[in-house]
Amino acid sequence: MHIFFPSEKKDNIFYISGREYKHLKIRRVVKGEEIGVLWEGNLYRCILIDKNKHFAKAEILEKLESSIPTPELCVYQSVTVNLGTMDFILQKCTELGVRTLTPLITKRSFKDIRVLEKKRDRWERIVREAMKQSARPYPLRIEDCIFLADLQADKDLNLVLDNFSEGLSVRDLSLSGIASINVVIGPEGGFAEEEITILREKGFRPLRLKPHLLRTETATVVIAGLIMNLANS
Ligand code: SAM
Repeated sequence: MHIFFPSEKKDNIFYISGREYKHLKIRRVVKGEEIGVLWEGNLYRCILIDKNKHFAKAEILEKLESSIPTPELCVYQSVTVNLGTMDFILQKCTELGVRTLTPLITKRSFKDIRVLEKKRDRWERIVREAMKQSARPYPLRIEDCIFLADLQADKDLNLVLDNFSEGLSVRDLSLSGIASINVVIGPEGGFAEEEITILREKGFRPLRLKPHLLRTETATVVIAGLIMNLANS
């Protein structure tokens, strides 16, 4: 079932226009075909009832049951020097149920905040496409950039992925009673030693993934996938 974001809802009819309508035409969706519609945090099963030059109309068949998975997982991703990798990370974090992604500026990360501000529209688009692809009705929020010194260990569990530490491993994670988690991930060149010290002092617990050193994007996908599956299986 193809999924779309409508521009408007009147009674039990959704109107799909603009870029989404183009997408619907590219997908060759025809009248009478069932589609999914994402609207205000819900996924609806609909039937396409009309198509004209400018928009399509879809009638609601049912509102599908959906709930927001817990824990609330907040990823602090050091901005990768290769900015294309951030696209990949945002797409995967959306699929995996991450709630917020905050671009983090560290000693070895990409640092030009003005360039990052210009990326926001592109990143929002990537999130929306990933929501459609994964039938995820609730958004992933992209927060404003933050500096490592401003990070706060303000969730029930606060982790920093540290490939050097002999701290926690995944087996030690006990998620019962944990409603919210922060995870901090380093850039391609890793954290500077003093940054790990700062994070530990702030209350972030180092966690090492086994058995090897991973690319930053692999580390992010692995920890998000593990946490969301440990908590929701
Ligand atoms: N050359 C860098 C170094 O020596 O630190 C490698 C950094 S790694 C490519 C990028 C980031 O991914 C790390 O800072 C860490 O946050 C995370 N990471 C990669 N592999 C990891 C592992 N096995 N355990 C925990 N974190 C890992």
